[in-house]
Amino acid sequence: MIQDIFPHKFDNSFCNRQPEDSDFALYYTKEGALLKWAGSEPELLSFAELETDCRREAEYLFSIDGKGFFLLHNAPVIKEEFKFVPLSYFRTMECGWQAFAGITGSQLWRWENSRQYCGRCGAKMVPGTTERSRCCPACGLVEYPKICPAVIVAVTDGDKLLMVQNVRSTASRYVLIAGYVEIGETFEETVRREVLEEVGLHVKNIRYYKSQPWSFSDTLMIGCTAQLDGSPEMTLQESEIAHARWFRRDEIPDTSKLISIGSEMIEKFRMENEKS
Ligand SMILES: [Zn+2]
Repeated sequence: MIQDIFPHKFDNSFCNRQPEDSDFALYYTKEGALLKWAGSEPELLSFAELETDCRREAEYLFSIDGKGFFLLHNAPVIKEEFKFVPLSYFRTMECGWQAFAGITGSQLWRWENSRQYCGRCGAKMVPGTTERSRCCPACGLVEYPKICPAVIVAVTDGDKLLMVQNVRSTASRYVLIAGYVEIGETFEETVRREVLEEVGLHVKNIRYYKSQPWSFSDTLMIGCTAQLDGSPEMTLQESEIAHARWFRRDEIPDTSKLISIGSEMIEKFRMENEKS
């Protein structure tokens, strides 16, 4: 999955530090992330490649293997080999740890951009000095990074796996049922509600699988498995689900790049030996 960057080590502990030449600079706009073309594969920018002025307002975000990643609030001088790439590029970037850093930084950039002013009193927010936060100096409101929990569930019925095509998805592939956790809900309750809402089925034996930070949508995915409870006949929520069907193992296509928890769960089911 995208966060599995071993043997590289991600360290998100909060600290205030200044950039050095070998640290990385993350700069984002509506066009995406600014990367450097070195040969055929783009790379993240290091401070050695940028003018020294960039360091003054650079904000430390996190480290990988001791190298810092800093958010630039002002545009650097754009050299010929620098280009913006859409954030979706990080789904396929060859270098996994750079892809993870690039997309994780984008979540913090989006959050900071949307918390420029206090939502309660309208004063200008400032970065926290002791923890990763945005603080209002006028009324004291403190905001933390936006992380939205969502469940994703592999519903099985014997040797069959339930997958759906979402109405709004641009890709035609089938995926697992997923949905955001609502206020007052446990993860298990979200699983039951989402499956019932989207395909009209009841489930039992809900089990936690793994979780995954999914910065493309500011989400923390909570992967679960569940078994069909009762009839397999479905009633689709037409506003959300275009198609839904039960797949036998041998009907599921091989997924080579398993960057998402959903693709890993599908592949895990596909590779399991059929249980009686
Ligand atoms: Zn305020």
